[in-house]
Amino acid sequence: MVFSSVMETDSGKSHDHKKLGKELDLFAFSDSVGKGLPLFTPKGSVIRRELERFIVDEEIRRGYLHVYTPDIAKLDLYKKSGHYPHYKDSMYSPIEIDDEQFMLRPMTCPHHFELYLRKPVSYRELPMRIAELAKLYRYEQSGELMGLQRVRTFCLADAHIVCADEEQTVAEIGNALDLIEYITSVFELKLDADYRYRLSLGDRANSEKYYKNDAGWEKAEGLLRALMQERGSKFGEAKDEAAFYGPKIDIQMKNVNGKEDTSFTVQYDLCMPDRFDLSYIGKDGAKHRAFVVHRSSIGAIERIMAFLIEKYAGAFPLWLAPVQVRVLPVSEKHAAYANEVLAALCAANIRAEVDDVNVSLGKKIRNAKTEKIPYLFVVGDKEVEAKTISVESRDVGKLDITSLSDFITKASDEIKRQV
Ligand SMILES: [Zn+2]
Repeated sequence: MVFSSVMETDSGKSHDHKKLGKELDLFAFSDSVGKGLPLFTPKGSVIRRELERFIVDEEIRRGYLHVYTPDIAKLDLYKKSGHYPHYKDSMYSPIEIDDEQFMLRPMTCPHHFELYLRKPVSYRELPMRIAELAKLYRYEQSGELMGLQRVRTFCLADAHIVCADEEQTVAEIGNALDLIEYITSVFELKLDADYRYRLSLGDRANSEKYYKNDAGWEKAEGLLRALMQERGSKFGEAKDEAAFYGPKIDIQMKNVNGKEDTSFTVQYDLCMPDRFDLSYIGKDGAKHRAFVVHRSSIGAIERIMAFLIEKYAGAFPLWLAPVQVRVLPVSEKHAAYANEVLAALCAANIRAEVDDVNVSLGKKIRNAKTEKIPYLFVVGDKEVEAKTISVESRDVGKLDITSLSDFITKASDEIKRQV
């Protein structure tokens, strides 16, 4: 299935994810819950769950260890990591519990480091790729909030890769970029047209904003630059855009309004291994300082959802479509067979439903088209008698398939191929 890129059209307004999200009933906001705190409907949750399954499965396939850590931790933990002074303005106020101060977590890094520290690690276990679909909480000014694009709580596909040496670190940054490029290919995103690489550098003169280690910065920036050159990917450089703990490679993407955001990022850490005493036991039996890479793969689930809603203009590829098939009985007497067809589709893990509302077939078809459902089955006398189906595809019109099992084979293949 080929979808045109909305960014090349001027119809941005009608593809606005906030508008489509409402029309297609994917997510909502409630003043009673609070600004910037999205509520995902059952349909929106299907898309989110599919994206989450996709990324977790893909990362596990690539050697990541998926974990769960708490959404809240002691304020002292973020002071130790150095996040607190740097990101204080975008963190929520501390919560007092039993005379101690806790924070809703703005990032996952220190949680993963503490997990790493639970036992001694041998060089044989490195690189260790600790990943999590992590719920994070950040204060955004209310004027900055925008649908799912900018929210006050989001779920980041985050990971911290602990490495033994510089060489392993650079190789892991390359592997993380491979994963990101694979993800962008699944979403048919093209370098230059849809996204661009940015090497985000620090500023040696600004030791308030960036961790002080001039030689370290020089070296790490050089390594990232050399890696990008070696990969042959076109990239730009931007000074004063690094993380406080090291330089990074950002994947910048434009949303439908043409505004650019960092969607994915891979970062070289010059500071946390010392702060957390992250080490490993080397071949020589001695303790060695470890290296750390921070990276997001699919980015924030909310943000990629906003992007995909706009990109596909709500006409999602089959694997992401909240409802994949709608069965339309012509009249009440065809409802029993329609439900038989529904049961077979559900048993084959295809998300389907029957439209048995008492309206004309024409109206049912129009409704299904407005909702951009990928496949419609019309069930009338002929289909009931012959135990067949009549299929119309959202993208290519009427199909020749009349056997339900042939359709299930075709649809299952399409879902697997994520087209
Ligand atoms: Zn991190």
